Amino acid sequence: MAFDFDLFVIGGGSGGVRAARVAAATGAKVALAEEYRMGGTCVIRGCVPKKLMVFASEFHEAMSDARAYGWDVQDGSFNWTTFRGKLDSELDRLEGVYRRLLDGSGVTVFDARAALADPHTVTLSTGETKTAKHILVATGGRPVLPDMPGAELGITSNEIFKLDQLPDSILIVGGGYIACEFAGILNGLGVKVTQFYRGAQILRGFDGEARGLIADQMRERGVDLHCGTNILSMEQVDGGIRVKGSNGSEATYGQVMFATGRVPNTDGIGLEEAGVKIGRRGEIAVDDYSQTAVPSIYAVGDVTNRVNLTPVAIREGMAFVETVFKGNPTPVDHDLIPSAVFTQPEFGTVGLSEEDAREIEPIEVYCTSFKPMNHSFAGRSDRVMMKLIVSKATRKVLGCHIVADHAGELIQMVGIAVKMGATKEDFDRTVAVHPTISEELVTMKEPVRSA
Ligand code: FAD
Repeated sequence: MAFDFDLFVIGGGSGGVRAARVAAATGAKVALAEEYRMGGTCVIRGCVPKKLMVFASEFHEAMSDARAYGWDVQDGSFNWTTFRGKLDSELDRLEGVYRRLLDGSGVTVFDARAALADPHTVTLSTGETKTAKHILVATGGRPVLPDMPGAELGITSNEIFKLDQLPDSILIVGGGYIACEFAGILNGLGVKVTQFYRGAQILRGFDGEARGLIADQMRERGVDLHCGTNILSMEQVDGGIRVKGSNGSEATYGQVMFATGRVPNTDGIGLEEAGVKIGRRGEIAVDDYSQTAVPSIYAVGDVTNRVNLTPVAIREGMAFVETVFKGNPTPVDHDLIPSAVFTQPEFGTVGLSEEDAREIEPIEVYCTSFKPMNHSFAGRSDRVMMKLIVSKATRKVLGCHIVADHAGELIQMVGIAVKMGATKEDFDRTVAVHPTISEELVTMKEPVRSA
């Protein structure tokens, strides 16, 4: 049977765009449908605008540090309208880059919502129908509001980039990385931030000591963080949203932002009808090669809810092309993925947390926490933390956790060593770079404990 395309990609985000381009480069005839804006979550309402907001929010502290170092600078005020205008132009520019890359690769783009009609057919919101030998679903995920009365008064990360003006105060609900990052960002931009998280400690799943230090320092920098706390009720009143908390608090906030979870975009696009299996959390079930229960349909990225990060979606997209279009079956390696949380302070992590590692095998823990030279000089109380989890049996470094300025940059480098299977002795053999924060990673002599 002759198909219109060799590959039809649904979703123009990190995974979909990369897969489409790389597949087209093999000579395949490729189409891609995007219903909103090219670039997807990462470019339009995720990593990129968020990181630019992190940069914007750090100037307040930088100015106070500058004064401590002898510079005569005044604080001034932050102008959200100016920043948002620049942000919007930057996102337009990046979207243009993505479109040109697809164009240049010969990918046919449809600005439309797509759904499956059968294992080889896609219907578009424009009314067109296209057939393809292979279909790749890369529709990503979206934030969800909690199921509670008044929740519709709140916003999510989707809306935060689009505010006409910054509120004076905000309640952020959630304890995951998105909630904690925005607590730091908005606090830095001068918004009075309160954060509720129903669990006992923020950043569930990460190393315990790192979580503790980040929570302490977020509070020290001004975030009014309450763990073990839920919203009991919320209503619109003059001047904002009145919220009763389970901790007995009652206050009016200019905005309430929910960062309480994301779900895969699998609704209403004909997946189950075509025979694709959907998991308990609404994710597309795939095998190691990103193939669904229907042989012609594959899925990559957040819609499969494996590891929901941009570089992982990109890897999965490239492995799919390697498998299907280059005849080289390539599973995706999800082990030892380094990642960063852009909280203030920043967090970089790779491998096992102490809590997870001790459940698996006997370990040694190397950990140090100290005031870095630049902050100490500026009179700040911030501390950094460096932590290594080491296997007693193999001496391999099983995990590394860094809470410090630029921890995301540092962990990328450590991630290479850990991925290569470096031992504690390999770290020790490496000469320190002095004076730096990260020299502590190669100079920690005695374990602080064994487990
Ligand atoms: P997406 O990028 O979500 O793309 C899916 C695309 O499909 C969207 O453009 C959507 O409009 C489109 N679509 C959906 N349904 C249809 C349909 N039926 N027809 C046509 N088009 C459709 N990751 C990091 O690695 N580092 C970070 O710092 C980071 N920060 C983040 C901050 C925030 C606030 C958020 C929300 C996410 C962040 N992420 C970060 C996660 C990252 O954005 C995602 O993991 C990544 O974008 C997933 O790529 P994807 O291709 O699977 O999906």
